[in-house]
Amino acid sequence: MADREFRVVVAGAGVSGLFMTETLKRAGIDFAVYEKAAEVGGTWRDNTFPGLFVDVLSRQYEFPFQPNYGWSRKYAPAEEIWAYIKKVADDRGLKKFIRFNEEITAARFSEGRWHITTAKGNTDVADVFVCATGFLHKPLFPDIAGRDSFAGTSFHSARWDHSVPTEGKRWGIIGSGASGVQITEALAWAGCNVTQFIRRAQWVHIRENPYSSWAERLKLRLPGGYTREQRRLWQFINEFDRWRLEPGPQREAMEREYRSYLDCIKDPELKAKLTPDYNLGCTRIPKSDKNYYEAVQLPNVSIVKGQIDRIMPEGVVMADGTQVDLDVLVYATGFDTHAYMRPMKVVGLDGVTIDDAWKDRIYSYGGIALPGFPNLFMLYGPFSPVNNVPVPLGLDQEIGLIMRLVGEARARRAAVAPTAAAAQKFLARLDPHFPGTVWVGGCKNWYTSSQPTPVLWPLPQEQHRAFFADAPAEDFEFIPVGAAD
Ligand SMILES: Cc1cc2nc3c(=O)[nH]c(=O)nc-3n(C[C@H](O)[C@H](O)[C@H](O)COP(=O)(O)OP(=O)(O)OC[C@H]3O[C@@H](n4cnc5c(N)ncnc54)[C@H](O)[C@@H]3O)c2cc1C
Repeated sequence: MADREFRVVVAGAGVSGLFMTETLKRAGIDFAVYEKAAEVGGTWRDNTFPGLFVDVLSRQYEFPFQPNYGWSRKYAPAEEIWAYIKKVADDRGLKKFIRFNEEITAARFSEGRWHITTAKGNTDVADVFVCATGFLHKPLFPDIAGRDSFAGTSFHSARWDHSVPTEGKRWGIIGSGASGVQITEALAWAGCNVTQFIRRAQWVHIRENPYSSWAERLKLRLPGGYTREQRRLWQFINEFDRWRLEPGPQREAMEREYRSYLDCIKDPELKAKLTPDYNLGCTRIPKSDKNYYEAVQLPNVSIVKGQIDRIMPEGVVMADGTQVDLDVLVYATGFDTHAYMRPMKVVGLDGVTIDDAWKDRIYSYGGIALPGFPNLFMLYGPFSPVNNVPVPLGLDQEIGLIMRLVGEARARRAAVAPTAAAAQKFLARLDPHFPGTVWVGGCKNWYTSSQPTPVLWPLPQEQHRAFFADAPAEDFEFIPVGAAD
């Protein structure tokens, strides 16, 4: 006879946490979600900078359980994505499960359960702990001398200060990544005086972003229309996006196309500054809806390329001595992409911490679990991001396997973890495939940083699907824990 109810705790209420919440709700399992912020949405709550649009087709950025027929554009603006996520949480009654403004700071596996502590000093105990804490979540600031001395306003792109009026200011944007490109482009077309500081040029996707027509929206609502369109999108992902994984004519054609975008730059010096010297796709490709290359040729825009030497009260000084005076400085400098759930302190079997486990190399089994950490699961952990598969779609596969494992562990009154051999086998399967991908060689990117390989899935997406559908039983060990029912 069970003496307590089986319970799950989830950290984070972004897209991943909400998908998990809906799944646990449907399964009728007792659970709680802790979210350190005051609202759902994660990335889409935090990133509110001008010019942010979703990278992938809006219709790919949907929870499979809640179609949206009403996207305004082919690639929706960020506020529309956030509104959709909030609507999902409201429509499905998910918020009542979430404890907002409560960060989980520690989780220790002891006596068969996870003992959780929050920043408020509250505690919880769960059989299963799921970290849905994001991989582009912790803002990263560059190590530049004098950063605190700046006399104007400064902030990270993921913490946009909407109290600062855009007009009448001299804007400095540090960073040439996806955020830096989109912000520069938006401020440029708004007529602001803007200087973008770049260390290297980026490949930029100049794309059309038309409004959705009523006919397109209607097509989705026709009998079988939505399913048909979703199937077509998956087919597109499977067939078209292989250029990132293997060399060949598709990759060459893509490079030619991207190079041609640069042809609209009239000044040869500017064109040279903005021409990348590494292969296409090595870094995450910024998406430009209002032609970044046209925007940077406006008289109100400057591109300053090189190393920043220091920041002073007036602005930025480059290594060659050039000084740019500014009123607002934006750090579009990315995220600590290998933090995952950290700084949370997670302690597994035998007192081993996540930091210990990842000392030599960040790893996982399938991006969702780790040997020695029974009944601990991650959503979009290391090696999860799949080529260009939108995050909500990849979650379906991860959560499917987690739920099967949790069900099995619960039935056996055990806690489940992948074996060390299975995690090694997983890495050994992926490692040989990295050399042919666009992510290795030629550039520094967030996928790799200090790691021996990128922390991405380097195989076609159907193999990702198959991996999760067919994970063999011998990859897991079940540790008896007692009486939860
Ligand atoms: C600018 C930008 C644009 C992007 N565009 C795209 C795109 O077009 N397509 C795409 O597929 N992906 C895109 N991404 C990736 C994006 O991060 C994912 O699509 C998705 O939003 C990740 O969701 P998540 O829930 O896993 O993580 P997050 O959205 O990061 O959510 C994690 C949540 O966990 C909470 N949290 C973290 N730690 C704790 C803790 N210890 N205790 C409690 N709560 C905690 C956070 O507050 C947050 O709400 C983009 C990312 C950025 C930064």
